[in-house]
Amino acid sequence: VTVIGAGPVGLYTAFILAQGGVDVAVFELEEDIIQLPKAAGYFPVVMDEFKKTGILSDVIKASIPMTGLSWRYPKQPALAQIAFPRDQIAIHLGQNKLSDIILQHLAKYNVPVKFNHRLISLQQNPDDIHAFIEQRVGHTQVQHTTKYLIGADGGKSTVRKLLGIPFEGFSHTEFDIIASNIDYPLHNYCDWPTANFIVDPEIWGIVVQTGEEWRVTVGVRSHLKMKDEWDEEQAIKMVKDRLPKILPGPTEQANIKAVSPYTMHQRCAAKFLDGRVILAGDAAHLTNPFGGLGLTTGLLDAALLGRVLRQVLVEGKSPSLLE
Ligand SMILES: Cc1cc2nc3c(=O)[nH]c(=O)nc-3n(C[C@H](O)[C@H](O)[C@H](O)COP(=O)(O)OP(=O)(O)OC[C@H]3O[C@@H](n4cnc5c(N)ncnc54)[C@H](O)[C@@H]3O)c2cc1C
Repeated sequence: VTVIGAGPVGLYTAFILAQGGVDVAVFELEEDIIQLPKAAGYFPVVMDEFKKTGILSDVIKASIPMTGLSWRYPKQPALAQIAFPRDQIAIHLGQNKLSDIILQHLAKYNVPVKFNHRLISLQQNPDDIHAFIEQRVGHTQVQHTTKYLIGADGGKSTVRKLLGIPFEGFSHTEFDIIASNIDYPLHNYCDWPTANFIVDPEIWGIVVQTGEEWRVTVGVRSHLKMKDEWDEEQAIKMVKDRLPKILPGPTEQANIKAVSPYTMHQRCAAKFLDGRVILAGDAAHLTNPFGGLGLTTGLLDAALLGRVLRQVLVEGKSPSLLE
């Protein structure tokens, strides 16, 4: 099996396949795991899944527990708050760190994870698929033949586009978001839980603790963001201007360590299976990040897909199971 994309969904799918005795290789366009601020909250359904594959203790060690959720107007006491039940585990962990953990476990199965390798085209045949992969250095092209190909290559999925699968739904046009990692001792100035929704028609956002840092994601009017020429300085300034409006304490001392802009989408591929190609994670479905459901559902795709493909390839069950 060939997996396109070493995001958390591609890596976790490869890991489950490798555990099941399936030969698998991963190809990733970038030179390393992407470090941008993205997913940071994981709910019990995903923790149960990590327990099944044996990575739960490493995930818990690297993370902090989610103490609860609150909804509040900017800088105000909570309008509503939920403490997390003690018998259920939910955590915060940057998705880059989760990917690192999966990568370490994958290494035990000698699964090749080839960074700097970009899928550029594919050809489906009755019994296999030819994937054409370009190496970043030297632009050499290689043909890789595989029985199944998994497109876990994110929202802008090349795999989905090559197959012409419509990505139905809509993109939010009025607001974009800027996600940032900040170094700021927020708990010196308040007793907020680890996940907080800022409720406001204009200056809304989410403030989540990810360890020593906080992930502050703010909504910005779309016209304020220069889409084609992404301007990091402007984004840092926008986050800096927003902090004193939503957080207590001397926010001018906050150190903004990373920023990344995103457009929000509600989209789903018209089909996830096309011949011997399967879409998973953001390549198959995109949602706004406010419910923490993007990666959650992507990891559940990986869990189911990995196990069903194993039944087809190792146990000889019918490929119709994939439908
Ligand atoms: C600000 C923000 C906060 C979020 N918070 C949460 C949260 O708390 N909880 C949650 O569940 N979800 C959250 N999400 C959603 C989550 O980040 C995504 O659902 C997740 O990244 C999906 O993982 P993926 O592996 O499917 O795709 P990606 O992480 O996008 O990985 C795809 C990989 O494919 C590679 N690739 C692309 N094209 C090619 C190609 N042609 N050849 C080879 N490789 C290729 C890319 O380089 C990338 O590494 C958040 C999203 C954002 C933007």
